[in-house]
Amino acid sequence: MSALYRRVRPLTFAEVVGQEHVKEPLTRAIREGRLAQAYLFSGPRGVGKTTTARLLAMGVGCQGEERPCGACAHCQAVQKGAHPDVVEIDAASNNSVEDVRELRERILLAPLVAPKKVFILDEAHMLSKSAFNALLKTLEEPPPHVLFVFATTEPERMPPTILSRTQHYRFRRLTEEEIAAKLTRILEDLGRRAEREALLLVARLADGAMRDAESLLDRLLLLEDPLTRAKVEEALGLPPKEALFSLAQALGEGRMKEALEEARRLYGQGFAPRSLVGGLMEALREALYAAYGLPGRSLSLPPEALLAALTRLDEALERLARRSDLLALEAALLAAFAPTPKAPAEPAQAPPPEPPLPEFDPLAPPPRRAGVRARPNRSPVGKKPWLPASAPFWRPFGPPCGPSCGRPGPRWWGPPSTSASPKARPSTTSGRWSKRRPFCPWPKPTSGWRRSISFWKKKPLSR
Ligand SMILES: [Zn+2]
Repeated sequence: MSALYRRVRPLTFAEVVGQEHVKEPLTRAIREGRLAQAYLFSGPRGVGKTTTARLLAMGVGCQGEERPCGACAHCQAVQKGAHPDVVEIDAASNNSVEDVRELRERILLAPLVAPKKVFILDEAHMLSKSAFNALLKTLEEPPPHVLFVFATTEPERMPPTILSRTQHYRFRRLTEEEIAAKLTRILEDLGRRAEREALLLVARLADGAMRDAESLLDRLLLLEDPLTRAKVEEALGLPPKEALFSLAQALGEGRMKEALEEARRLYGQGFAPRSLVGGLMEALREALYAAYGLPGRSLSLPPEALLAALTRLDEALERLARRSDLLALEAALLAAFAPTPKAPAEPAQAPPPEPPLPEFDPLAPPPRRAGVRARPNRSPVGKKPWLPASAPFWRPFGPPCGPSCGRPGPRWWGPPSTSASPKARPSTTSGRWSKRRPFCPWPKPTSGWRRSISFWKKKPLSR
């Protein structure tokens, strides 16, 4: 037995759920015989792109009254995938230039039975660039007996040269009500019963994709009648909604003991922290809807708190992907409902406005910075500002300034040494010879200075 979504695939445009903006122009084009040469159907997965492409192929050669009728031999053959003039190509696996060349050769052949040959290229964005280029000329001027239908989930990846040669229809996501209505019809045909809330839950889990909803329903058909929300939650491994709402209520009201016990109980029942947090977010979202007047179950929490908790839980989901245990779950729950710090009531004082810039005058002298006095860079050589008037005599230079300088020290004064030996030269740091200037006034030593230093070192200071 084939999958449910294949058994309930629509046979007429009327059976396609939603997508009125696509169905109406296509129906009229088939009726009036004004079909384009190439169509592009884009949209998320499972919303009816391939189905509509097949319906278009059925409508091309249908002998029924309302085309496509879904009952005539042509329609049946297309539906079974056995029609010689309808070619479905999976572009994801046939995406090379050779495949497109082979396709071009097939295009030249006239149709066998139907008035047109229909080529349906699924996942068309997967064609390689060279394959697209090989297809360009064919698309621009195809033989009159050919109809192309491209189906893709990513129209952005199609080259603009292809887009401009096709009629582009965007398929939208289906609403939960639309999906639930189709599921109800399927269940009626099967003679099964289900709660509306259970079907709405399935529709929400499908996220706008009919095929996903039908696949989920296929699993749920193994359960006993009637299908209830609790049974669906249990079968799909979802945490029960009642427990999630009571958990959210306890967290929001600050009853942390009860909330943590409830979280621990759910964790113990085998629910993954990620699915618990995801279910809690669904409950909060429903409460937020109710707070804004949309249908949904309300919680006695202000919308701001709900929104803040939703945001924090969304951040926690990423962390739970890395670490998924009870501790991480509790941390996520406690952080989500922690009280938000109060914002300061008074807005901070605005900084004082900056003084306006003075007008620029190119002829004015440059401004002088405060505390800095312009001074000519004069060398102290030749000046004797430190020489006291009572100095008995002075020498042009004294002993070395120190180990770090190596240059002769400042001019200094004092009685001549009585020693004739250079070793007996008086110390520069003690006694009466230690009257060193606090700074070295000499310019940078040159080789000449160095020579004089060595010369001076070998001679006694006296004389
Ligand atoms: Zn037909």
